[in-house]
Amino acid sequence: MLEVKNARMLYGDLVAVDSLSFTIKPGDIFGLLGTNGAGKTTTFRMIMGLLEPTEGEILYNGGKVGYHNVNEIGYMIEERSLLTKITVKELMLYFGQLKDMETKDILERLDYWLERFDIVDYKNKKIKELSKGNQQKIQFISAIINNPKLLVLDEPFSGLDPINTELFVEVIRDFQKNGSMVVFSSHQLDHVESFCEELIVLEKGKAIIEGRIDQVKKDFKKQNIKIIGDVDIETLKAISGVYQVIENSNEIIVKIENEDVATKVFDYIKTCQHIMKYDVEQASLSEIFIAKVGGLKNEKV
Ligand code: ATP
Repeated sequence: MLEVKNARMLYGDLVAVDSLSFTIKPGDIFGLLGTNGAGKTTTFRMIMGLLEPTEGEILYNGGKVGYHNVNEIGYMIEERSLLTKITVKELMLYFGQLKDMETKDILERLDYWLERFDIVDYKNKKIKELSKGNQQKIQFISAIINNPKLLVLDEPFSGLDPINTELFVEVIRDFQKNGSMVVFSSHQLDHVESFCEELIVLEKGKAIIEGRIDQVKKDFKKQNIKIIGDVDIETLKAISGVYQVIENSNEIIVKIENEDVATKVFDYIKTCQHIMKYDVEQASLSEIFIAKVGGLKNEKV
């Protein structure tokens, strides 16, 4: 179990992380989300024991993380800094040996992962000869080569195309199935909605959204109604509880304060002649984030 308890990190006067608490259990995939500079990397550095929290503590299976845990942890850092002049095989031997692995095991696992990531031909190529996406795969493999029980991934998906993103997701899900704890960061809020069950969204070091993603969405009362068909925008805007109507090229999105307003919108839609489809959707994480950040700013005024 990983327990972050009231962690606070100051860089001089700057509060990079403030009163942050969360727990990750075996088999959890936990998302640490937030915009640039929100405090995600700082949190990871504290988890890895690379930074000592100014206040609070971080416990891995009840104790402080240290060199004694290195064999059971995998860390993919945000900076894509691999040793570029050596080959993929040499790099993996280096990382594996740092984690006390036998050469035979490192090479066996490397072959497995190269096959799975469809980059077998690169085994004896120098890192600098690989494309950015393939270097990212190698960096990911270097984090998982030791079958970690705690996998810490800083922005693992940034810059990946949809096919490779799916590939990474599948592998991370396999670690989840095998009981590993996974914590990853991302600044693409909506992108990870279907991926993690539990999350924290940081803004200026503070958790502004936290909990199970389904509950977060349920607690946020506002919803969206998507309509494909001919409707009168002004009539929709005039319905009480409708706070915004967006006209996209192929659909109309009606933003409503709560689910009770949906009935009123539906009553109007039923009077329209050419309606192909309409549906209620929960707000996206980005919408919830924007509403919370807006709310915080208003509170300060
Ligand atoms: P990004 O998504 O851009 O990587 P992040 O969420 O990972 O951002 P951090 O790198 O943790 O954010 O930074 C949090 C805050 O702490 C930022 O304001 C950053 O400028 C500051 N910061 C980070 N590292 C240091 C440091 N070594 N010294 C001083 N300030 C720092």
